[in-house]
Amino acid sequence: MNTLKRLFVVLVLLAEIVWAAAEPIATRGYYFTFCRMPTLGLTEWKQIIDGIEADGGNTILLWVGGAFRSKKFPITWQYNRDHKNIQADFVRELIDYAHTKRIKVLLGFTPFSYDGVNQYAFEHPELKAVQKNGRLAKLSGIHCWGYALNPSRREAQEFMHDYVHEMFFDFYPNADGLLIESSDYAICFCAQCQGHYYEREFQFVRRISDEIWKARPDATIVVYPHYFSGQSVPGFDVKAARLEYDPRWTLFFTPHSAHIDPELLKLTKKTIYWDPSTDLNTPVEIQAAVRTARSFRIPGYVPTLEGFSFEVKQPEGGERFLIGKRLKPFGFDWLADGQNPYNELPIRVNRIAYREFTQNPELTYEEFKTRLGSAIFGSMADTARTEDLLFLQQSFFAGRSWFSASPLVSPAVFNGKLEMGALSLEQIADYKDRLQRISQIAARYSGATDRSSAELGRIAAWISGNWNGDGQKLLTQHLR
Ligand SMILES: [Zn+2]
Repeated sequence: MNTLKRLFVVLVLLAEIVWAAAEPIATRGYYFTFCRMPTLGLTEWKQIIDGIEADGGNTILLWVGGAFRSKKFPITWQYNRDHKNIQADFVRELIDYAHTKRIKVLLGFTPFSYDGVNQYAFEHPELKAVQKNGRLAKLSGIHCWGYALNPSRREAQEFMHDYVHEMFFDFYPNADGLLIESSDYAICFCAQCQGHYYEREFQFVRRISDEIWKARPDATIVVYPHYFSGQSVPGFDVKAARLEYDPRWTLFFTPHSAHIDPELLKLTKKTIYWDPSTDLNTPVEIQAAVRTARSFRIPGYVPTLEGFSFEVKQPEGGERFLIGKRLKPFGFDWLADGQNPYNELPIRVNRIAYREFTQNPELTYEEFKTRLGSAIFGSMADTARTEDLLFLQQSFFAGRSWFSASPLVSPAVFNGKLEMGALSLEQIADYKDRLQRISQIAARYSGATDRSSAELGRIAAWISGNWNGDGQKLLTQHLR
């Protein structure tokens, strides 16, 4: 190459980089474990779609495994009989509604495991997976507790195929495709699966993908990299398969179960990054996640915004103190059952962060704070108010689990976490300091007349109120 040509190539590359940096994230939206949110009906889900549109979203990953009334396999939804979509199927109508907002809906499930699927072993215990120690699969799950299946058994392959075929072709043929979420906690180690687990799982993935693409060549099918990367699969100490990648598949990367693989990124631009920042963390982590996606030039960032509302029957995440309760999404205990949780102030903060950072990945944190203040407080916005808001949001989510709010929001959660041995002296001291500022925030906005400042004061007062009486003693007795 002569110098001029080289210069030209360099300029084109630079232009591409500058152009890519200025572009919004292309695939935007949220991931919902619809099956674990039984209390929300069509009205609330339409509101959620409206919210996704407001946040600039164009995609929703809707986990419907275990939450549709399968005619072929009624055992898959018996555990979820109080789910609104089991009582009266509305997902097809919801998908049509999403399409009026130009939002694509992909149906989520896990092959051979997780919600719905793991119930099949109650009728067919001979299809249970085998653990690494050679024993049969143990009862496990989230909300839907059951047993992983063994993909080396032909009957398990047939079940998986027939269940998803029914879900897509009979129930929701208007969906835009699938999210095939490979399990992050249970695979099979039987003699046939050992060293070949992901090849077995892939048999099902290949078959259902081909059937869907035959009927709907434009369908989006999102899969894990575990069939193609040959890398060690996080959590299992097993190697992924190295099968041929079909460029029609979209690849899914997560920080905990499917690490970003630069080699696979060379094969395809059809990729999505997922993480839990919008659900468990704060705008700081949301900004970092957007930048991670951008730095690898992954065009999609679809994090989770699932807010569980099921009745707890098992020690979910080891949190025995929740057994017997119906969860409130994000730990917003003031909500009525079935109420849409996505307009509550702490989650609105994360939604605005998601919107702003995906629209402009280069946005500085300082500029984000200005935009957040305007979006929430309008003409009442000022720096101190925004700092109070961010402090309250961070406190509510600090150390929150998938099932409960931060231990600082109430003695009930705090005690439960103490029993689990999940708190350190540093955390307790931090909670004590934070509660002081939270009671100041409660006082500062108790007479506020604008809606958002009043809500800020109300949530702060709710937290402070939870600690009245013996609460303070509980907090300080560990710090003497
Ligand atoms: Zn097996």
